[in-house]
Order: sequence, then structure tokens, then C-alpha cells
Amino acid sequence: MGKYCTNCGNELTLNADVCLSCGQLVNTNNKVYNNQGKALATVSVVFGSLGFYPLIIIGAIVGLITSIIGLNDPNNQYRGRSKIGLGLSIGSLGFWLLIIILSFAAARNFSYFY
Ligand SMILES: [Zn+2]
Repeated sequence: MGKYCTNCGNELTLNADVCLSCGQLVNTNNKVYNNQGKALATVSVVFGSLGFYPLIIIGAIVGLITSIIGLNDPNNQYRGRSKIGLGLSIGSLGFWLLIIILSFAAARNFSYFY
């Protein structure tokens, strides 16, 4: 019992992702793309949430970049997770911007006393 390539008719090996005869992708759930999308989505969630902890503002930026890459990848099966990562990254980045603005405002107020 074998599957056959839709492009050239060559018999495929079991669980083949690609036809060895013509190079046609035969498995729509291509594992390479799945894992890449999953990894990007996971990184964006992890770094996006890391961004909330002190001195890890870089995490928010990395999370933002990886989630945008993940959402723009048409083969990404984990866009839902990328969206969570994007939300977390924007949230934590906004949190840091607020802290920075507040500390600048506080510094300006303090300067009136001297
Ligand atoms: Zn083929």
C-alpha cells in the first residue's frame, strides 16, 4: 500500500514529506514549516512575557520581532500563539515605555528642588 506523488506518479515512501523523484511537496502538514512556526510562536510568547520583568526590556523587543515574523509566515500553523506573543510583547513594551516616561517626568520634577 503506497501513496503516489500527485505531480509525477512516483510511489512515495511511508510518511514522506517530499517526492524523491521530482521534489514535489506531498505532505501539506510539512514538518519543517510547522516546527519553525511553532518555535517562532513559542519564542515570541516566552520573550514577550519576559519583557515584564525588570531589566529584560530586550525580551519585549525580541518577542515583538519574532511574533511579527510568525504572523507574516503563511506556513505558520501556530499563528494563534504568535498573536498571544505579539500581545504580550506590546503589553510589556508599553509597560516599559510608561516606566521610562514616568522616571523622566519624576527626574524633571525633582530638579526643581535643587
Ligand atoms: Zn513526484
